[in-house]
Amino acid sequence: MSAYAAVSADPASATVIDPGPLANARGQLARTADRLGLDQATRELLGTPMREFHFSIPVQMDDGTTRVFRGYRMQHNDARGPAKGGIRFSRTSEPDDARALAMWMTWKCALLDLPLGGGKGLVQCDPRLLSAREQERVCRGFVRALVKNVGPHVDVPAPDMMTSSQHMLWMLDEYEVITGQKAPGFITGKPIGMGGSPGRTEATGFGAVAVLREALKEIGLPIEKSTASIQGFGNVARHAAIRYVSLGGTVVAISTWDRVSNQAWTYRRAAGIDIAALAAITDDFGSIDRREAAELGLEVLPGDAWLGQAVDVLIPAALEGQITESNVGRVHARVKLVIEAANGPTTAAADWELQTRGIRIVPDVLANAGGVTCSYFEQVQGNSNYYWTRTEVLEKLDARMQEAYRAVSDTSVRERTSLRDAAYIIAVLRVTHACRTRGWV
Ligand code: NAD
Repeated sequence: MSAYAAVSADPASATVIDPGPLANARGQLARTADRLGLDQATRELLGTPMREFHFSIPVQMDDGTTRVFRGYRMQHNDARGPAKGGIRFSRTSEPDDARALAMWMTWKCALLDLPLGGGKGLVQCDPRLLSAREQERVCRGFVRALVKNVGPHVDVPAPDMMTSSQHMLWMLDEYEVITGQKAPGFITGKPIGMGGSPGRTEATGFGAVAVLREALKEIGLPIEKSTASIQGFGNVARHAAIRYVSLGGTVVAISTWDRVSNQAWTYRRAAGIDIAALAAITDDFGSIDRREAAELGLEVLPGDAWLGQAVDVLIPAALEGQITESNVGRVHARVKLVIEAANGPTTAAADWELQTRGIRIVPDVLANAGGVTCSYFEQVQGNSNYYWTRTEVLEKLDARMQEAYRAVSDTSVRERTSLRDAAYIIAVLRVTHACRTRGWV
């Protein structure tokens, strides 16, 4: 067994059955806190958001009726800088999911050594069922509810699932109308030309492939000879696929939502999927009409078939809790690497099983940190009112991701632990140091 395949999770955690993102996040923190010998107050401080905002967003619908949506913003920890994290539109996500996602943001920012804390927003709505005007009113209502508790030096939102640069611009506009000033630092993920950074849209996917490339080097498998199966075809997955193929990799399968049958399907082509052709039939929310996919010559398989493909790399890039105790046995013997482009896609039990099989997992807090890193670049450019070229942005992003991967990999070898535990050691130590030196604990 190579040093990289060393397992480190407490075997007892493998008996936990898919506990949900927050329990998963707290379990990861507890394991790190035990290893680092953290005191009780620090564990309590880091185990829960420092501040939470729960509110109603009344929205006038196009038909004249009013609907009330629930909104949330969690500020997990801001010891290292203003809270930072996306806003998710989802009918199925719960406040606990936002709490977990906010905690992961804290670790992600610390791991990439960004001067930022962690936060996350949620509106319980499905934008696919709302007109553009209704979505705009949701965005403006979200900002009206939160305006006193967010801002460039307090908490800076960004896009996440089902939210785009257009949503960010509506939110920015509302913030500027209320505060009576131009405040581009209020939000990131803005459109290019409106304070957005070149490269932000593709940053998370490109960042995921930067660490994939580094992990493949360690395994000794040339990227041009590697194959991948991806879950999702939204912002993160699509740009990960584009970048991976541009470096010579072959995407064999992609699973995504079909807006017609309202369920997920997997599209497969052993010789490699034409990503541009698939992107051309995908809507703004990453959904496809599977009949159009079939017309492209793609095999159509059940939604979860992406997981069982005979490929070298699995890239879950859609949702939390997708590789679980109940389906991890279907991961093919050929798989060597899991790149967690989504947040929290692997439960603790599945993580344990993959590690014991010698599969290397690049954890979410590292694999999808390209998004927040580029958001930080957007802040830096906005503050100096000078914008870099897309090439400059993506080169700086690649360098940061490589550096973070190196630090995590070196720590994992030194501590004889998994990449996930190594990433947590680095991040939790940095956040704990900031809390202690501020005199909080
Ligand atoms: P998105 O809304 O753009 O795309 C989500 C994709 O998942 C869509 O293609 C959708 O069709 C697909 N999908 C939904 N349910 C599915 C299912 N059951 N099976 C297969 N596919 C399914 O979202 P995104 O911004 O690409 O985010 C994806 C993940 O990456 C999330 O976990 C998010 O928190 C994380 N993330 C996003 C960013 C970012 O910059 N956007 C940054 C860091 C992490």
